[in-house]
Amino acid sequence: MVNYKEIGLVNTREMFAKAIKGGYAIPAFNFNNMEQLQAIIKASAETKSPVILQVSKGARSYANQTLLRYMAEGAVAYAKELGWEHPQIVLHLDHGDSFELCKSCVDTGFSSVMIDGSSLPYDENVALTRQVVEYAHKYDVTVEGELGVLAGVEDEVSSEESHYTKPEEVIDFTTKTGVDSLAISIGTSHGAYKFKPEQCTRDPKTGRLVPPPLAFDVLDAIMVKLPGFPIVLHGSSSVPQEYVDMINQYGGKMPDAVGIPEEQLRQASKSAVCKINIDSDSRLAFTAAVRKVFAEKPAEFDPRKYCGPARDLMVELYKHKIINVLGSDGKAL
Ligand SMILES: [Zn+2]
Repeated sequence: MVNYKEIGLVNTREMFAKAIKGGYAIPAFNFNNMEQLQAIIKASAETKSPVILQVSKGARSYANQTLLRYMAEGAVAYAKELGWEHPQIVLHLDHGDSFELCKSCVDTGFSSVMIDGSSLPYDENVALTRQVVEYAHKYDVTVEGELGVLAGVEDEVSSEESHYTKPEEVIDFTTKTGVDSLAISIGTSHGAYKFKPEQCTRDPKTGRLVPPPLAFDVLDAIMVKLPGFPIVLHGSSSVPQEYVDMINQYGGKMPDAVGIPEEQLRQASKSAVCKINIDSDSRLAFTAAVRKVFAEKPAEFDPRKYCGPARDLMVELYKHKIINVLGSDGKAL
């Protein structure tokens, strides 16, 4: 049994309370390799932003759960070395799908877990989430639950269509389960192809897809039911078109990849939404930078020469999100 406090991590409780009061959101960035983690920590340290490191099911099978947890421990030390005196770093399980998995994360040093029972019948979601909360809270580990279903594909989590969270269920769910935060569905979506072309309109000038707006009326109704309660948005990558263009320019093929406009995420950050999950954007930046090196220097074979530029581009991306979208810079001095 390793408690996260011994390795310098924090849970989300205080962080979320401050974010709601201050009208900003905490970035939750997924990682499954060293370059991503370095970029996340560097960007967070340079901007003094609290940060959530997320480990998904796909990341655990790709990189190994134990190794990722030691990398997070290393991240705290690295942050201090970069001159960040009091790093506020959360290690969070993304989309936990069983009590056993959540327990194993709590037992090995995670400071926060998500139990995603959103695909289960309502009563089963309540029971499973309650079971995880009872265990996690013994060790002061915070728990995120989910109501409503997001469309899209994220590692092994996928759904054909979305079902918005029902505002009439949120009081009952949070009271019965005791969760610390609630992931909701208001039209965000997993992956780099968040919307089908037929769901979008096209900008006549650029020919690019314009996605349907998020359901802010559903968010508002939830906030009326749960004043001041921490809300989480999954699937909130913006799919920056500059990266998509770079990928396509250098031999990739990603037609009509589209995400959530940053203006809408900026608006959400000012509300009770206090955690915004971003994964695809970092994958796009990584891939765009690597493709550029391969196209321009076909003789290059040292991974540092293409993973290095990828890391630099991800640092830029993370800093942009922190400063210009979520507003979390300067909140963890
Ligand atoms: Zn998700």
